Amino acid sequence: MKPEIRPVASLREWLQRLADTDRLGVARRGMPLRYSVAALAKRLDGRKAVLFPEPDGHAIPVVSGLVASRAWIAEAMGTTEAGVLQRFQDAAANPLPWREIETAPVQETVHRDVDLTRLLPVPTHNEHDSGPYITAGLLITRNPRTGVQNVSINRCQINGASRLGVLILPRHAHAFYQEAEAAGDALEVAVVIGVDPLTLLSSQAIVPIDYDELGISGALRGEPLQAVRCVTNEIRVPAEAEIVIEGRLLPDVREPEGPFGEFPQYYGPRGDRHVIEVDAVTHRDKPIFHTIVGGALEHLWLGGIPREATLLGHLTRTFPNVVDVHLPVGGVCRYHLVVQVDQWSQEGQAKNIIMGAFAGHYDIKQVVVVDRDVNIHDPDEVQWAIATRFQASRDLVVVPEAQGSKLDPSARSGVSSKVGIDATVPAGADAFQFTRIRVPGEDSMDVEAHLDGDALNRLREILGRGTGRGHPDDQGG
Ligand code: MN
Repeated sequence: MKPEIRPVASLREWLQRLADTDRLGVARRGMPLRYSVAALAKRLDGRKAVLFPEPDGHAIPVVSGLVASRAWIAEAMGTTEAGVLQRFQDAAANPLPWREIETAPVQETVHRDVDLTRLLPVPTHNEHDSGPYITAGLLITRNPRTGVQNVSINRCQINGASRLGVLILPRHAHAFYQEAEAAGDALEVAVVIGVDPLTLLSSQAIVPIDYDELGISGALRGEPLQAVRCVTNEIRVPAEAEIVIEGRLLPDVREPEGPFGEFPQYYGPRGDRHVIEVDAVTHRDKPIFHTIVGGALEHLWLGGIPREATLLGHLTRTFPNVVDVHLPVGGVCRYHLVVQVDQWSQEGQAKNIIMGAFAGHYDIKQVVVVDRDVNIHDPDEVQWAIATRFQASRDLVVVPEAQGSKLDPSARSGVSSKVGIDATVPAGADAFQFTRIRVPGEDSMDVEAHLDGDALNRLREILGRGTGRGHPDDQGG
């Protein structure tokens, strides 16, 4: 299929594109929200997004699996796979702020007396999840001092008719909340469900505090996002979104939340977490509810691509010979980093790059450095480079007991050891010893032109009738 050149502008346009190219499955009506939605979404993970009409008889359909690979993300951005990181870096460096409008599709219907358990079709995904979760909601908060907004995705457990339990890790939304809580105030929030792939991707950017991530979405689209003020608070939300939950993060309130199946393919544990009191829900006419199945490819890639872009920028500032980076799916698009380098300037530099990468994000626990001839997007190629260019006594870096991911079950509450592997050709090595074998003409050969189309009959001719174990017809009747 030929990728479109134009960036995608809305969730509905993206679903149409997927349907036009046989990448959208539509489930039978009435699939159960408990497990069955996630089961079908995961069986088609990587191949098709799935739309679920009338799940459990609910009027609002559910969709999952909007992005399945780097190629889909490149297409949504209107670029090539090789161009994805550069495009994201450019957008983060030159954000286009949103533009406020007065009336918006996402406020076509307003509910002020809310029962979330009836209003929204919220699925339960994994076996030991504590219950239904809103997993694809953009949590938009606002710095109480500066008014600058922040966007992140936080898992939201349904705690009651108008109450959500939410996991807020110690980043920007948390900093805003702490400031409000210290003053005895609630923090206004909006949870935005059903946005286009570029806005989802932007929400995962690793940018400084007081940097509104929605500006990246505008830059990726090439025009500012339109935003509208919430009906009950000051948060501005994307006008084209499907559903918005408006509410307040309550000060001094914590309620049990979790467990919940997370991106490392394990459960995030239960704990006392923040609580959102819901004040209103607004939505489009005939809205669509987006759910991200925990641990599915959509979950992995949406986190991975913005991190790759940030890590590449971080490394190239210090090491100009770093060409590309990749966070492979096997490392849950978070923990394992592959770094590709061109021509060495100095022996030993791979180890400096390894240390620089560890400093780039605390989640990273393994870094492999490879040469330009290794395809970093092919795990077999990276494995081959380690197999043939790496010697543990010479090329291994271990950093014991550093900061790591709290969701890595092998870490001790976020204390994790790091491993670096220099899998580049050793400095000063004999060039022929490290020359990759190559069959001349292999890459350029027209395979079909060199194959006989009638393999069965040709085999029979070559083996001869009645000799050995021939074709079943040869057994006679
Ligand atoms: Mn932020």
